[in-house]
Amino acid sequence: MTPERILSHLIQINTVNPPGNETAAARFLKELFDAAGIASEIIEAEKGRGNFLARLGAGDRRLLFLSHTDVVPAGEDWDFDPLGGEIRNGFVYGRGALDCKGLVAAGAYAVLKLAQEKTPLNGMLIFAATADEERGGACGVKHLLEHCPEKLRADFAVNEGAEEPVCLNGQMIYFIQVGEKGTAWSRLEAKGRACHGSVPTLGDNAILKMVRALNALFAYRAEVRLIPEAEVLLSEIARIKGLDMPVNEENVDLLLDRIGDKNFSETLRAMTRMTVSPNVIQGGAKTNVVPDSCQAKVDIRVLPGQDEDYVLGELRKCVGGEIKIEVPNYHPPTFSSAQSPYYRLIEGITRKLVGRGVACLPYISSGATDSRFLRGAGIPAYGINHMAKGFDPEIRATVHGKNERIDVASLYVKAEFLVTLAKKYLG
Ligand SMILES: [Zn+2]
Repeated sequence: MTPERILSHLIQINTVNPPGNETAAARFLKELFDAAGIASEIIEAEKGRGNFLARLGAGDRRLLFLSHTDVVPAGEDWDFDPLGGEIRNGFVYGRGALDCKGLVAAGAYAVLKLAQEKTPLNGMLIFAATADEERGGACGVKHLLEHCPEKLRADFAVNEGAEEPVCLNGQMIYFIQVGEKGTAWSRLEAKGRACHGSVPTLGDNAILKMVRALNALFAYRAEVRLIPEAEVLLSEIARIKGLDMPVNEENVDLLLDRIGDKNFSETLRAMTRMTVSPNVIQGGAKTNVVPDSCQAKVDIRVLPGQDEDYVLGELRKCVGGEIKIEVPNYHPPTFSSAQSPYYRLIEGITRKLVGRGVACLPYISSGATDSRFLRGAGIPAYGINHMAKGFDPEIRATVHGKNERIDVASLYVKAEFLVTLAKKYLG
């Protein structure tokens, strides 16, 4: 079956998470792999939450292809059926086309192709299409690593997680994701004194206290922190843009302001500092009651070296002593080396595949993927997002948005990359 047909089938299987129902997608994959005589299994963390695992070859060397089968809800206003999986005009249409059923389809196609060609493998190729990535991974990679880590153990893994390629000054840049920022989701609480809203000066308005705190957060300028991978990336971008300037913590913003492409430059900016975004606020009960309590939830993303104490300290400096601050949800950043032979192998194959003159650069995600669990378990993981030259950059905005789709040519590029990687590493 072609990768576009595999993808079309996968899109038609409803795996919107919650509730997930990934077992239905796992069963479809199992039928494909069974027909090709490839050993595979479905491991459910809970009923319906199936993870699909397949193995090809045997030996000490182990390579893992990771992807996930669950998707986020489609939302409204699509121009086509989000669960239609229609193939038309060189595109496959529907939720998950890019995140992440496209990679599932490309990976499955690659493994089936290697089996069909009877490619001799000096080691084991593991294909894992897991559940629950979009809601924290408890039924997916996290579950597998807790209950049967041996099944995912590999020398290294490739997964989703890189930005799609960008074109800058006529130069295509492909990314290899080597790290993910950590999360430090925080909670602020202002306390006051309630009274009748008709004589407000008798009370102490907690909402107004919170407003002052949030204004201080709005004015907060996080320190620029240039980790080595970001320095490599930004130096190359400066060169490609023809900007004759060194990259250091003092002039990073000057460089970013001159990139021109706002989506790209703000993504890069988030790689160079902690970001702080108050996204939920709750307070007050009635128009005629001065509120005695107000809470805010703040999405904070941190770089290496920025632990909970650092976050607490920065918030405290900002909002002052009157606001209660908690960091109930902290996950550290995770990284895999950009100096490793695995990174160089991925880089070399990418260059060969997409052509000379293409830049291939390390990338740090502001968001998290299942790679964080692998890295936490000591398995280096690299995020890829290879697309065909000339792909429509408009489709980037469809991830987690409406009208998600992928061009068929890019599916073949992803599959070709994976086939080549398996042949090179396990050849
Ligand atoms: Zn994803």
